Amino acid sequence: MLLPLLLALSCTASSGKVDEASSGTDASKNPYYSRTDTTKLTVSNAEWKKILPDEVYEVAREKETEWAFSGKYYKTDEPGAYYCAVCGNALFKSTAKFASGCGWPSFFEPIRKGAMDYTEDRTHGMDRIEVTCARCDSHLGHIFDDGPPPTGKRYCMNSIVLDFVPDAGAPKR
Ligand SMILES: [Zn+2]
Repeated sequence: MLLPLLLALSCTASSGKVDEASSGTDASKNPYYSRTDTTKLTVSNAEWKKILPDEVYEVAREKETEWAFSGKYYKTDEPGAYYCAVCGNALFKSTAKFASGCGWPSFFEPIRKGAMDYTEDRTHGMDRIEVTCARCDSHLGHIFDDGPPPTGKRYCMNSIVLDFVPDAGAPKR
């Protein structure tokens, strides 16, 4: 079981530059967080509640939506990759991000097939497709059909449940 140790180290190495708007995901408190392990997790909400910062828990596990233009990534256009802030599952490359103007970070395609799951969501009087992390089942946002080519999709995500790792600053192993 070397992985948790490596993750703890890489987290420590990168935590110095996390700004105050960070989701505060703390890998030392989150034994499930891994950017390399794609094994499906079955963790109860009671357990996540102990691990996740409140604002992450509310979106990820209670399907809340952050305010438009309030999140930390809606304007981000640096090269890198976006990971699930709950479990570390890789979700999007920055090359799939586009300026949607909607106030949430938006992407036109996932980093790999199977990274996310899609479920019909008829709550709030709308007919939408909910997007959840395929590894930890956390709510990430919704997907719409008004995105740019080549996919025509718009993955409308909550910043708070994403972890952005810039290419240049990515920890080397
Ligand atoms: Zn996840």
